[in-house]
Amino acid sequence: MLTNKVFMKKTKKGKILKIVREHYLRDDISCGSEHCENCEHEVRGPSLAANPTNNSQVFNTPHYIIPDTNVVLHQVILSC
Ligand SMILES: [Zn+2]
Repeated sequence: MLTNKVFMKKTKKGKILKIVREHYLRDDISCGSEHCENCEHEVRGPSLAANPTNNSQVFNTPHYIIPDTNVVLHQVILSC
């Protein structure tokens, strides 16, 4: 799936720039959730439970935590 965002931006010098942002979403990779009915799951099935257990006091509804690899890498590099 491809989505586009196109907008015009005025620079400090007064020039007009056309900004095009393309966002590609791969539809050949499933989300892995048992709850999802949109994706075609692999032969071995989804790996994320439909109703995950939750011990959080802040968010009391079932949820998945999906860390952004760039953020994790940045934190690892900062801690070294
Ligand atoms: Zn899905």
